[in-house]
Amino acid sequence: MTFGFIRPGTIREAIEFLSEHKDNSRIVAGATDVMVQMRSAKPAEEKPLWLVDITSIPKLSYVNLENGIVRIGAMTTHRDVARSAVIHDVAPFLADACLSVGSPQIRTRGTIGGNIVNASPAADSLPPLTALSARLRLISRKGSRDVALEEFFKGPYKTIIEPDEILEEVYFQAPEQSSCCAFLKLGRRESLAIARLSVAVLLDVDESGKISKASIAPGACLPMPGRITPAEEALTGKTPDEETVNLAAQEVGAEMIRVSGVRWSTEYKKPVACALTKRAIWKALGVDED
Ligand SMILES: Cc1cc2nc3c(=O)[nH]c(=O)nc-3n(C[C@H](O)[C@H](O)[C@H](O)COP(=O)(O)OP(=O)(O)OC[C@H]3O[C@@H](n4cnc5c(N)ncnc54)[C@H](O)[C@@H]3O)c2cc1C
Repeated sequence: MTFGFIRPGTIREAIEFLSEHKDNSRIVAGATDVMVQMRSAKPAEEKPLWLVDITSIPKLSYVNLENGIVRIGAMTTHRDVARSAVIHDVAPFLADACLSVGSPQIRTRGTIGGNIVNASPAADSLPPLTALSARLRLISRKGSRDVALEEFFKGPYKTIIEPDEILEEVYFQAPEQSSCCAFLKLGRRESLAIARLSVAVLLDVDESGKISKASIAPGACLPMPGRITPAEEALTGKTPDEETVNLAAQEVGAEMIRVSGVRWSTEYKKPVACALTKRAIWKALGVDED
């Protein structure tokens, strides 16, 4: 494959270049997805390309909390998200998700921005970010625009990002102090495994022990990230018990079939989606199922 390589030092330089070459350029962050995709590109897909490496733009790597809003720069690596004191404090399930990505090498290079823009249905950061109702800031020479994470995806590996846009940051409202959360991932093996299924659960529990708010977002079982409203409704206003949690978990399996239909994998995935959701809800609530 023929390609040119450019490494802008500032966001301004990067967006100027992208706007000039929007038809034949591609952003590269950690390159852990891009490299694999370029290697497996079929000859027919090959065309000269500018790779725009944004790793030298220091202003895109940060995690901060200001006025109740958590902001994560797109170039922040999974390792840095997983180690962030802010994330551990306000959304530990996002730290768990980033810690479950690949291997130490992949987490040290791979970025949260790349994970979002690559839009794999199995991307680990997406379920917690979806449960957090995260938003994205995109910038280009024309200015910036903010979109809800759930509106960003058009399908597997497809997003609404324009070729001249850079994802600058992902941000979300810090959950209430009273909230609890969990992320669980099931892969074909314990480590260095892409999710076969995952689920992120975020719950608010009031003083009487009732769930006042629930967000449930599975991964690797829907074409694109989304919350499961019927499962959330099954929990909201209830004191969690075996029956309520089971019902919510069943809704996740049912939604998977509603959206994706019955497939060869459904026989395995449906009960596993239910079991994983159940486990994640109890984990978030601090209850050991065993
Ligand atoms: C061995 C291996 C194991 C893996 N395991 C996992 C896993 O367990 N879980 C998981 O979720 N993923 C996994 N991945 C996939 C990958 O590591 C992640 O998706 C990673 O977060 C991608 O980030 P990156 O910085 O490397 O993105 P890149 O490869 O650089 O880019 C990915 C895509 O995003 C675009 N892009 C990147 N940054 C921006 C930006 N700021 N603005 C606009 N567009 C941008 C690129 O143009 C490209 O289309 C694995 C990959 C490998 C090779």
